[in-house]
Amino acid sequence: MDATILRTERLQAFYVLDIYGKTKRIKAVNHIDLAIRENEIYGIAGESGCGKSTLLKTLAAAVEPPLRVIDGKVFYRINGAEVDVAALSAEEKRQLRMTYLAYVPQGSMSVLNPVRRIRDTYRDFIESHRDVRQKGEIFDLAREHLVELGLPPKILDAYPHQLSGGMRQRVTIALATLLKPRIIIGDEPTTALDVVVQRGVVQLLKDVQSRLRNTIVLVTHDMGVHANIADRIGIMYAGKIVEEAPAERIFRAPSHPYTRYLINSLPRFGDKTVRESVPGSPPSLANLPAGCPFHPRCPHVMDVCKQSMPEFIRVAPDHKVACWLVEGEGYGKST
Ligand code: SF4
Repeated sequence: MDATILRTERLQAFYVLDIYGKTKRIKAVNHIDLAIRENEIYGIAGESGCGKSTLLKTLAAAVEPPLRVIDGKVFYRINGAEVDVAALSAEEKRQLRMTYLAYVPQGSMSVLNPVRRIRDTYRDFIESHRDVRQKGEIFDLAREHLVELGLPPKILDAYPHQLSGGMRQRVTIALATLLKPRIIIGDEPTTALDVVVQRGVVQLLKDVQSRLRNTIVLVTHDMGVHANIADRIGIMYAGKIVEEAPAERIFRAPSHPYTRYLINSLPRFGDKTVRESVPGSPPSLANLPAGCPFHPRCPHVMDVCKQSMPEFIRVAPDHKVACWLVEGEGYGKST
């Protein structure tokens, strides 16, 4: 099994807001333990507003007020040694983000400047990351990388509006991976695309990962995308991971009631029955219910669910679940 490259320990990150003199805490990341491995695609799934994107920000050492890490740690394995992100200076964090990590956002237009050609964005990116002074050298590097990824190098001459949405997102992925980062963090990179284009973008991410043998941490609410790309999946609900397993197992044997809803809501080829969606709405992260946060929506709720959060239970070697319904070996607190 590949070594852990990115790990969190009891991570808590809240938005701390001052509203008319009262402090409000939005508990977006609430006691999360992750161990993401080298050379894997780790998917994080859950409804909008469950804290997925905030978790990515804390993983990417991009925490800025009002977001604060309240407790816990994030560790990276760099050159064989584990590095605690909290111990890094602001400049070291910036270097980490520049050299070790790449971030692929949801919309390409937050990366591409609409009034500049793609090649100008590539040049700015390379110059800000590396001491490459020769213009020719910069464009050779960009062209080589695009060809490696099966993209036409002539797109360097285009303006963003001359490309389709899918091609713009491919260009963004190519840009993010140009300097061969060890970890790629993708925040809903396929969300704004139709399903056919989405497929091409997912395939490109897979190709990048198998070529660079790096790690991808991918957030999306779309379980279909996770089914296509992820090696392992963490299911997030109300700021917590409530189930984690290899992707194949999550789809074959989901154990948490919330995971089952997410999977049952997926359309199936030839099945015309109405898909079942999760009843009710997600709780406010500023005012979480006591006990298991899913209990107001759960059809299996018991008294104990309203009082305390269950521990993680290991139901298979690489499969853990936090639910009072599940029986197995205790695997650490998820409170
Ligand atoms: Fe439902 Fe209880 Fe399990 Fe939460 S702990 S998912 S409320 S059965």
